[in-house]
Amino acid sequence: MGNKDLTCRFCGEPLKMTFADLGVQPLCESYLSIDQLNQKEPSYPLHVYFCTKCFLVQLEESVTPQQIYKTYAYFSSSSKGWLKHCEEYANMIINRLKLDPTSQVLEVGSNDGYLLQFFTQKNIPVIGIEPAENVATDAIKKGIPTINRFFDRETLNNLISQGKKADLIIANNIVAQVPDITFLMEGLKTLLKPSGIITMEFHYLKNLIDKNQFDTISHERFFYYSFSVIEKMLAAQGLTVFDVEQIPTHSGSLRIYVRHADNNILSKTNHIEEIKADEKTAGFEDTAMYLSFCRKVEETRLNLVNKLTEIKCSGRSIIGYGAHAEAHTFLNYCNVTTDLMDYLADRNPNKHGKFLAGVHLPIFSPDKIQETKPDYILVLPWSIKYEIMNQLSYIGNWGGRFLLAIPKLEAYDNYGKEIRAEVSKEESV
Ligand SMILES: [Zn+2]
Repeated sequence: MGNKDLTCRFCGEPLKMTFADLGVQPLCESYLSIDQLNQKEPSYPLHVYFCTKCFLVQLEESVTPQQIYKTYAYFSSSSKGWLKHCEEYANMIINRLKLDPTSQVLEVGSNDGYLLQFFTQKNIPVIGIEPAENVATDAIKKGIPTINRFFDRETLNNLISQGKKADLIIANNIVAQVPDITFLMEGLKTLLKPSGIITMEFHYLKNLIDKNQFDTISHERFFYYSFSVIEKMLAAQGLTVFDVEQIPTHSGSLRIYVRHADNNILSKTNHIEEIKADEKTAGFEDTAMYLSFCRKVEETRLNLVNKLTEIKCSGRSIIGYGAHAEAHTFLNYCNVTTDLMDYLADRNPNKHGKFLAGVHLPIFSPDKIQETKPDYILVLPWSIKYEIMNQLSYIGNWGGRFLLAIPKLEAYDNYGKEIRAEVSKEESV
């Protein structure tokens, strides 16, 4: 089942058990033009293991971060909801830590300065570290001091030699993405003032499991954390988590507050014991819980493929809605090619006329739906399913229906009302 050479990147135990094996896939967010369809596509295993000793859930490493991040990254500032979340966080933390113009804030993975801008507006000195060139350049243009590098040994040494130590270090959505996690944690500790704190946000493994969000697994994310595991990993570096909260971003994340182990001024809140007890009850220290998730992922695929096959064999048509990263992962895992699905509709004009890498589904504007009148639409962005079904309710004009595959196979009419009879046979989870 496991590769004998793989070992846990935290405790060194051989990795033998699969958490989710999503096959061999091209990198997500890659879209092909028609003349690229007959060329060989670089593909990499997307196989996530869990450690039977420390329970760290981790991807078999196959792609280097340099391949993913060096030149391209999303501009975080492009989402309004996200900016509001950032501003609220900045105001809260400035207040909680009493940050002022004599303080120092450091952010690893600072993107285009979407978050640090809320500190500079209040004259609080900041430093951003960001490897992707396009967004780092943009941050610098906006007057946010940014080091355009990976957070590696050289970057760390440069900061140390300049005497930079921080009152607040922000590491959001980064602890999942840095393969050398021990170095990252050690480095953050080195840069933290004795009284300073680190806040980290990351997609919460418990949400991924409870809501079957396995399509969020990607080559960019090496680690999938429960609270108990990240707490242990930080403790090994002399860092203590003293508070935690659940936040809605990225389909359900945790925000943890971290300090030096010997900084006893900040005492642990009740939230720490509560979340650990909750995870223990949910089976996070039992192999069986992880293995049952692995089976659930496989069942999700079988149920979808059965349904698509049934639709196709009865001469009806189906398309998918959404050509985003999660759709890429999911459709490639289920191997949904043009024999099972006609095309994908997506609102992003940059994707129109292109093909999803791997499965080669063509991508069109949603206008195509009116033209082709499909019998079914598989809605892939599950987090906004009602919004999408509402936008596309006109498919009722020709008797069209919606399908959802995650967390489990579901069918809906054009008013967004569930039709249980459509999927009753497949309901096994
Ligand atoms: Zn381990």
